[in-house]
Amino acid sequence: MPLTSAKRILLKLSGEVLMGEQEFGIDPGFVQELAREVKTAKETGLEICLVIGGGNIFRGMAGAAQGMDRAQADYMGMLATVMNALAMQNALEQLGVETRVQSAVQMDQVCEPVIRRRAERHLEKGRVVIFAAGVGAPYFTTDSGAALRAAEMRCDALLKGTSVDGVYDSDPKKNADAKRFETVSYDRVLSDNLKVMDASAVALCRDNDIPIVVFSIREKGNLARVLSGEGVQTIVKTKEG
Ligand code: UDP
Repeated sequence: MPLTSAKRILLKLSGEVLMGEQEFGIDPGFVQELAREVKTAKETGLEICLVIGGGNIFRGMAGAAQGMDRAQADYMGMLATVMNALAMQNALEQLGVETRVQSAVQMDQVCEPVIRRRAERHLEKGRVVIFAAGVGAPYFTTDSGAALRAAEMRCDALLKGTSVDGVYDSDPKKNADAKRFETVSYDRVLSDNLKVMDASAVALCRDNDIPIVVFSIREKGNLARVLSGEGVQTIVKTKEG
């Protein structure tokens, strides 16, 4: 289905986009800008689920590389995603957009647990649902969390907003001749190990026929452009072309 006819989407933002120009953490001004993009998309009538990473604060792999127990470090990473979810919730609500945060790691004082039927109801009522803590288990990432929530919430597409404007055949920062794909198959992404999302997330999208739209969220207005079919992006789907 073309993106323009999507009714419900899942938007995955990597934690690093919340840093703005900073090296680390959360830039509240930039989170406001992201929230404005989400608000504009919502005003077109879309139902929006959000998943935000935690890499701007903590990544389990980085902790493990420094000698920490991987699972322990991953739980810290999951907590980082909850902080980001709360920051985005705050920014959206300051713009008058109703939201609910649902965390895969239960945290009753802070947010709801993940309950699919309740999330459905929130979307029906026009709220943005922010899913935090990924899948709630170590050795996964928020990409897998995004694919899982997109599948269970029956989203028409998974939009991955990141720092690059699509999927390239080689790293565009290192190779000036790198070519961006307009469309690329799930199978090619997996066999060529193209950097889109981790393999388990791509496989879950493939098995559930959920297109992955990779685009740059750093340019103002880009989310709306991509949703209206006018933006620069790469679409990962079953067949290329
Ligand atoms: N994480 C995890 N299980 C999940 C989701 C996240 O263990 O289901 C941990 C993992 O350590 C990961 C960190 O949380 O490195 C932050 O998430 P991610 O790396 O996906 O954030 P992003 O790269 O999107 O900012």
